[in-house]
Amino acid sequence: MKKRDYYDILGVNKNASYEEIKRAYRKLAIKYHPDKNPNNKKEAEEKFKEAAEAYDVLSNTEKRNKYDLYGHSFGGGYGGGGSSDNSGGIKMEDIFTNFGDIFSDSFVENFSYNFGFSSSKKIYKGENLRIKIKLTIEEIAYGTEKKVQVTRMKVAKGVFFKNCNRCKGTGKITKISNTILGRVQTTKNCYYCNGTGKFIENNNNYGVNSYGLKKQKELLKIKIPPGLTEGMQLKVTGKGNEAPFGNGQSGDLLVLLEEIPHKIFHREGINIHYELYISFSEAVLGSIKEIPIINGKAKIYIEPGTQSGKTLRLKKKGLPNIEGYGYGDFFIHVNIWTPKIINKEQREFFKKMKNDENFIPKPNYKEKSFFDKIKEMFS
Ligand SMILES: [Zn+2]
Repeated sequence: MKKRDYYDILGVNKNASYEEIKRAYRKLAIKYHPDKNPNNKKEAEEKFKEAAEAYDVLSNTEKRNKYDLYGHSFGGGYGGGGSSDNSGGIKMEDIFTNFGDIFSDSFVENFSYNFGFSSSKKIYKGENLRIKIKLTIEEIAYGTEKKVQVTRMKVAKGVFFKNCNRCKGTGKITKISNTILGRVQTTKNCYYCNGTGKFIENNNNYGVNSYGLKKQKELLKIKIPPGLTEGMQLKVTGKGNEAPFGNGQSGDLLVLLEEIPHKIFHREGINIHYELYISFSEAVLGSIKEIPIINGKAKIYIEPGTQSGKTLRLKKKGLPNIEGYGYGDFFIHVNIWTPKIINKEQREFFKKMKNDENFIPKPNYKEKSFFDKIKEMFS
C-alpha cells in the first residue's frame, strides 16, 4: 500500500511550526475517537495510527529533516521497522506511551479504555536476567542439563510491608474529571507508591532495596534440548528478578548459548571435520586406523598408495539436524606425516629412491585437490 505524505495526513503545509503540527494531530485524534466513530471503529483506529506516525516524525526535528530529504524511504516511521516490537505496525498502547503528553491525562486514560486496554492496568514484572552457558559439541548434539548459579533479586526474608496510605494498597487512584468528552472517571497508578500499593515497614536488613528485594543466589537446573547452537537464546520463564514486593510477575532468565571449540573436531553446521595424520609407511602400505568420532570410535581403512589431502567421509556420523531428522557427516582429512629425523640406514634408502620411477609424483585425475573432492561430495 502506498503511504500517504505525512504533511497531507495532518493537513499542514511543509513549513508548519511545531505548534501547528501538534494542534493538527490533536484535532485528528479527537475526530477519530472510537466513541465518535462507533460504526467504523476499525477505520478510525487506522486513521488514528496514521496520524500518530505522521506526528511522531514531524514533531521530531531530526526525523522531520530526514523525511523532508528522503521521504518515506528514510525508515524512521513505524513501518520502518526500527524496534522489533513494531514489527506488526504501531500499537495503540505505544501511541499513548509516546505522545500522551499532548493530551490531558484523563483524555489518555479514557481514550485508552475505549481501545480495550488501559495504561493504568500495568502489570508489574521483574527485570529479565541474562547469562551465558558454554556447551561442548557433544552437548550441542545430544542436549544436556546444566546446573547454574544465578543471582536474582528476590523478596527478602524478614522484611514486612505496609499498604500505601494514598491508595490503600491498591496501587490505583480513581478520580472524576471534566474533559472535552464530558465527565469521566479515570483510574491511574498511584504516584505515591509508584503503583505498587506498598511500602517497606522495617528495613534493617542489609542490601534490601526500596521494593523489598535483595540479591539472592539460586541454583537452577537448565535443560538444553538437542540441536541448539552457538548464539541461540533460551528463555527460562519466571527465573529473572521478582516483581516489586513480590507483587506481580517475575522476569525471565535469558540464556545465551556459546560453543566451546573442540580440541580435535571442527564443526561446520551439522558436519564434523577431523584431521588425521598417518605415517609415510602407512600411506604406502595401507593401514586400518581407529579414530575418535562424536560419542565413540570408528575404524577406517587407508588403502595402499593413499595421497596426502585425501578426504574420507563417514555418512550420518555428524550432528543431528536441528529440525529433528537426519544427521550430518563426519569428514576425515588425511595428512601424511613426513619424518623429520631419520637414521643413516633410512637416509641411504631414501637417497636411493630419490629418482626412482615409483617415487616420482605422477598426479592424474584420480588425485584431485581437496576442494575438488569436497565439491564433488556435495554435488
Ligand atoms: Zn499508593
